[in-house]
Amino acid sequence: MLNIVLFGPPGAGKGTQSEMIIRRYNLQHLSTGDILRSAIEKKTKLGMEAKMYMDKGELVPDSVVIGIIGRILDENRDKADGFVFDGFPRTTVQAEELDKMLAKKGLSISQLLALEVEYQELVDRLLKRGQISGRSDDRNINVIKNRINVYNDNTRSVMDYYRAQGKYSGINGMGTIEEIFERICKAMDALPK
Ligand code: AMP
Repeated sequence: MLNIVLFGPPGAGKGTQSEMIIRRYNLQHLSTGDILRSAIEKKTKLGMEAKMYMDKGELVPDSVVIGIIGRILDENRDKADGFVFDGFPRTTVQAEELDKMLAKKGLSISQLLALEVEYQELVDRLLKRGQISGRSDDRNINVIKNRINVYNDNTRSVMDYYRAQGKYSGINGMGTIEEIFERICKAMDALPK
């Protein structure tokens, strides 16, 4: 199985690239952001709790997202050749728990691919996405800036966690969608099968 963490700040292109990766490599896309937004739409208890954090650009508590991922891993493990984790893990606690959950199934993360994008480009992409998708957290410049700050303060350390395991690849995330996808494929094709 190929289990990839597609990593990067908000606006780095994780969602777009995940969609392309899963098609090429027959993997399953697992986005905690998408799952939480769908829970909000359905007005579930989980959704209502998560919304308070998401509206401010803060992280949803670790216990909540870890619970979601645990359930989904159990339900989907046999449906694809592996997973693309998008937007998870976002803290080292989440990374440790993910490793434990995978290990229980005899699995592990193959590689973290970190998309590197300049600050102003992130802000521009998110504002543009806010106009198109209507995602409320992409419409407010203060929420956007807070999400990037939260990434720098709480999430960036996840890179060091996987780097220490020898599982880190930096990917230049500037350029066209196709150019970036090509770089990702190059890194993925170089992984041991
Ligand atoms: P995303 O779609 O990945 O940009 O996530 C949107 C929002 O969902 C984030 O700003 C967080 O509030 C929340 N969220 C998504 N994934 C996580 C996670 N792994 N841990 C905590 N909060 C998350």
